Amino acid sequence: MQFDAKNMELHNSGGVQYLTFPSFSTYSFVRHAFSTRAGGVSQNEFSSMNLGFGRGDSDENVLENYRRFCNAVGFNFNSLVSSAQDHHTNIRRVGKEHCGIGIWKPKDMQSVDGLITNEPGVTLVTHYADCVPIFLLDPVKHAVGLAHAGWRGTVARIASAAVEAMTREFGSRPQDMLAGIGPSIGPCCFEVDAPVRDAFAQLTDLNPQELIHDDGNGKFHIDLWETNRRILMRAGLKASSITVAEICTKCNSNLLFSHRATGGKRGGLAAFLALTEEAEA
Ligand SMILES: [Zn+2]
Repeated sequence: MQFDAKNMELHNSGGVQYLTFPSFSTYSFVRHAFSTRAGGVSQNEFSSMNLGFGRGDSDENVLENYRRFCNAVGFNFNSLVSSAQDHHTNIRRVGKEHCGIGIWKPKDMQSVDGLITNEPGVTLVTHYADCVPIFLLDPVKHAVGLAHAGWRGTVARIASAAVEAMTREFGSRPQDMLAGIGPSIGPCCFEVDAPVRDAFAQLTDLNPQELIHDDGNGKFHIDLWETNRRILMRAGLKASSITVAEICTKCNSNLLFSHRATGGKRGGLAAFLALTEEAEA
């Protein structure tokens, strides 16, 4: 099947394939990427660009994959700072002193599903395999954020929590901010039972009836992309500033790791977002 990059661009740098949002690439002081399965050293279900530690692949392979990805895309391996995701809505402000955490230094915290920074040379990294990556950029204050929104994080409005954290920490104004909603499980494939449907039905300010499709057999399909888009708009972002990738990980599991497509036997994708050092010049 031909991969359709839709609202993102697919790049190939020496075999490492990655995706970017054209709206973010406009800004020279920002570097960002979303990984694919292509270009790493891992084998079998982790083949090949597995960026998830602790899933059964060797740490050596995962570290080598991070090095290859950074070299191919232009991130400094030493600048990476990772989240510690477990479907909460905690947002952590990080700086240079945090570089390495979760990658080449141990995690020092739990329950961090979002990262923000305004320091150039600090690369935020969050992890995916169907959950929704939310990229945030304030081009006025020069600040960035990444949030991991699974269905629980979506319902708990982590997207909004990340916008609020950037407003609080950096003085960002939501109307100035850009957002990218990255590759993740689409409304085509995100099938749930009634309890999950009920959680989305409680988002009454988002017209949830438009976000939930009743299959009529006790199953429902939910649109996580549109739910997060509406949450970002409620947080004050302009509709024209939000890009939805519209790339389903499960439909494209040959190129992207999908938890649901593999029954959990899979590697991990990662989102990367940084202000470049040149921004200070
Ligand atoms: Zn799909």
